[in-house]
Order: sequence, then C-alpha cells, then structure tokens
Amino acid sequence: MSKVGFIGLGIMGAPMAGHLRAGGHELCIYDVKPAPKSLTDQGAVVCGSAKEVAEKSDIIISMVPDTPHVAAVLFGENGVASGLSQGKIVIDMSSISPIETKRFAQKINVLGCQYLDAPVSGGEVGAKAASLTIMVGGPEDAFKRVKPLFELMGKNVTLVGGNGDGQTCKVANQIIVALNIEAVGEALLFASRMGADPARVRAALMGGFAASRILEVHGERMVKRTFDPGFRIELHQKDLNLALQSAKALGLSLPNTATAQELFNACVAHGGKAWDHSALVRALELLANHEIGQKTPAMLD
Ligand code: NAD
Repeated sequence: MSKVGFIGLGIMGAPMAGHLRAGGHELCIYDVKPAPKSLTDQGAVVCGSAKEVAEKSDIIISMVPDTPHVAAVLFGENGVASGLSQGKIVIDMSSISPIETKRFAQKINVLGCQYLDAPVSGGEVGAKAASLTIMVGGPEDAFKRVKPLFELMGKNVTLVGGNGDGQTCKVANQIIVALNIEAVGEALLFASRMGADPARVRAALMGGFAASRILEVHGERMVKRTFDPGFRIELHQKDLNLALQSAKALGLSLPNTATAQELFNACVAHGGKAWDHSALVRALELLANHEIGQKTPAMLD
C-alpha cells in the first residue's frame, strides 16, 4: 500500500481520492477549501498545505482547475516542491497547458523526483464510477509504479508518451468533442428548420455512420433543452485556449477549433459560461433565428 497525497478536492478530485482510500492506501489531502466530509469519514488525513502533503506522501496527485493553480500548488509558497525528497512521484491530473507541463516536469526532475501528467476524460460521472479515461505522459518506470492507483480511478489507462504528451492528448480530445458538438448542433438545427422532428432524426442517425456519444448524450440535451452542467462552457473554453495558444506557437492552423471557440464566446455573451458545453448549439440557433424543435414554416411549405 502506498502513501498517497491528493491536492484539489472539487467535483473530480473528491471522488477520485475516495477511490484511492477505498483501495486501501494511506491518504493525505489538502484543498484551499475545507476538506470534504466524505474523505475525512474514510480516514483521510487533512494537511495544512501542499508542502505538508508532499512531506507525508510518496506519490502526490494534484487535481485543480488550470495551469496557474498547478503552478501555485507545485512551486508557490508552501508548495509541493518545498516538501519533496528524492524518489517521490508527482502526478498532475488537471487539464492544463502541455507546454507548461514540460517545464513543471523539468523543475520536479531537478529535485530528484519523477513527474507524470495524467489528465482525464469522463467527467463527474466517470470520476464517481471510477471509469475515467486517463492519458499519461512521462517515464515508463514511474507509470508502471503508479498504474495500480490509476486503475482504481479509471478503466482506460494509456501511457501516451513523454511529459506533456498526456496533456496534448487531452487537448486533442477536447478538440474532437467541441467539433462533434458543433456538427451535431448544425445537423439537428438543419433538420428542425427543414420541418423534420429532431428527436426522430437523432434516433435514426444513432443507427448509422454518424452515430457518436455526442449525438447520443448531447444530441438528446439539444432536443430536450437541458443545458445544466455537466461540463461547463468556461472549462471547455480553457481547453480550446490551450489548443489555440499551442497551435499559434507552432504556426499551426486549427480553423474549426477557432470557430467552436467563437461560438462558445457567443454563449458567454448571452450569460452562458456555466451552461453545459452542449449549449454551444444555442449560438448556432441565434445565427439561424431558429431553435431546435421550434415550429416554423419549412422551405417548401
Ligand atoms: P473544481 O473547481 O470542482 O475543483 C478544483 C479544486 O481545486 C477546488 O476544490 C479548489 O478549491 C481547489 N484548488 C484550487 N486552487 C488550489 C490550490 N492552490 N491549492 C489547493 N487546492 C486548490 O474543478 P473540477 O471540475 O474538479 O476540475 C478539475 C480539473 O479536472 C480541471 O482541470 C478540469 O478541466 C478537469 N476536468 C474536469 C471535468 C469535469 O467534468 N468537471 C472532466 C474532465 C477533466
């Protein structure tokens, strides 16, 4: 059994840490907010800083919102780096910049410790069900050492490559998801404006080549008009920013990712930063002056 530290106990971190404790590991926890009762009831030890977590643990996991939060957790005052000693492994499971991740890994390596970037896909549902997809970047020996911990939190655990490649994989995931939402939104909007029943169109398409998890889950949200999160638009904007900033640094054009980001921006302009990301369709609806399911005369009526 390992001594595991967990920093960042929000929507994702709390259930993930709970699975590690339920798996029999010693667990030290820290968040700037009070520790969740579910974890203290399980016997987790609450620490007063990220430094204390690093001192008391052999494997230290962070799950915080964005790149600056990870920088603060690792290298800020009373951060993980100030509590590390040789041979420990630092794992960041947040979704953050692949470029900064490579820098963070180098700074941790200088201290005689290994670093893994291990962002996840699967959302709150996957975190609670321990069915997350985990995309890992870093050295293979460190990956092999901590794989049993990943398997307590997720089902599909893959070593993608070196440090930063896990985060790159997650950004790629978010590009696919955003463009899929956009495609499903355009298709259902088109069908609805033509006068067809969007619910039946979705059901028919689920049997064919256009079927996808996005059509299944988010297509249903678009038809039923249920846009409570889920995954908030502001978090998806953060991920597409990572894609677009990295692409700019590389001189790489991602035209449809940029369009999806513009559509998210339009949602935010209408008060939607906390809407579920499937609500991207609302920006398309504004452009079309038509809402999916709305009864308007079709072209040839
Ligand atoms: P969240 O806001 O619910 O939780 C983040 C936690 O980190 C909070 O409890 C916050 O207090 C804590 N925190 C922030 N700064 C800290 C610091 N300096 N020291 C200690 N604790 C600190 O966010 P979440 O939804 O759990 O997401 C976490 C990460 O997982 C994000 O990068 C997100 O993009 C990613 N992610 C989220 C989902 C999802 O569906 N929510 C899915 C996949 C990936």
